[in-house]
Amino acid sequence: MIDIHCHILPGVDDGAKSVEDSVAMARQAVSEGIHTIIATPHHKNGKYINEKQHIINDVEKLNERLKQEGIPLLILPGQECRIYGEMLEDYQSDSVLTLNDNNKYVFVEFPSNQIPRFSEQLLFDIQSAGLTPIIVHPERNTSIIEEPNILYNFVNKGALTQVTAASITGRFGKKIRKFSLELIDANLTHLIASDAHNISGRQFCMKEATELIQQEYGAQQLYMFFENAEAVVDGLACFKEIPERIKKKKFLGMF
Ligand code: FE
Repeated sequence: MIDIHCHILPGVDDGAKSVEDSVAMARQAVSEGIHTIIATPHHKNGKYINEKQHIINDVEKLNERLKQEGIPLLILPGQECRIYGEMLEDYQSDSVLTLNDNNKYVFVEFPSNQIPRFSEQLLFDIQSAGLTPIIVHPERNTSIIEEPNILYNFVNKGALTQVTAASITGRFGKKIRKFSLELIDANLTHLIASDAHNISGRQFCMKEATELIQQEYGAQQLYMFFENAEAVVDGLACFKEIPERIKKKKFLGMF
């Protein structure tokens, strides 16, 4: 399995604090069947700044350490970029990093309870520059939960989205679990990833989540997620079904 969203780099954000933490996360990842991880430290989220070259250097160091430890896991460079006005300019000036540095996919994180007004234009501009934005964990954004059409619009206009494994397993509560499944049903998500930060509270949950997906949706849906993760690593096109709108549930007694 490939995990395209993970905070495994040591000491750069709220993920692994030390290289020992990174090694422990790597062991847990391997035990869940993960062989490749894109390390995606937070960038410009108000707390952390992690620019491209710095991440690439840290990834190289961590891969050396994993080799010494004999852990069969490959780390690739990536970044979880909070949406901001100059994001595209900063990509062009080499501080924003695409996934696996292949100039194809870029992570876009929204603030957890709102969607900035400039988002639609910026997502368009990113695509005009030849990149595909991947909106991370839309199922955890309160504005999107309240108004799923916001996400439908973005996907309809070419953005991809990544749902978090722990959302599917229920780690973030029933409401987010249910909404995650609705996103899968409506073809509004294309990738599943761990967004793991550690091996205690925010762990991988990839094995459990993928088993649940296979049970609920069958192997074909699961393979779509796996193949898309591979496509992201290789900088190739992802598989997309035509997105649908999530129907708002009617209140009881108002039929
Ligand atoms: Fe993250």
